[in-house]
Amino acid sequence: MSCLFCRIVGGEIPATVVHETKTTLAFRDIQPKAPVHVLLIPREHVPNAVDLDGDQLGDLFAAAKEVAEAEGVAESGYRLLFNTGPDSGQEVFHAHLHLLGGRRL
Ligand code: 5GP
Repeated sequence: MSCLFCRIVGGEIPATVVHETKTTLAFRDIQPKAPVHVLLIPREHVPNAVDLDGDQLGDLFAAAKEVAEAEGVAESGYRLLFNTGPDSGQEVFHAHLHLLGGRRL
């Protein structure tokens, strides 16, 4: 298994998991760009955000809402973003939703 995030899903590489469901996993970014920086991923390997189906997108956004509440940024606000493709700066080709907050962005 060569995909970094599949290895995190498989428990092969450690990560600070903050939320999990049957279909999603959320863990802290190793190089946080904000006080709260969580990555939300589908457990299933999908290389790019645009390849996610409606159920997968719905599950990721529902999980993001729960993470934002648990991290205390639901009221102050936060940023959700997908990098998609090399020009966006995407480094890991397992779709992931960034949740950033805890400061003025
Ligand atoms: P991308 O640029 O692909 O949208 O974002 C990939 C993110 O994954 C980056 O913010 C990077 O810091 C994070 N990342 C890369 N390797 C690891 C790792 O091994 N563990 C964790 N938790 N995050 C990682």
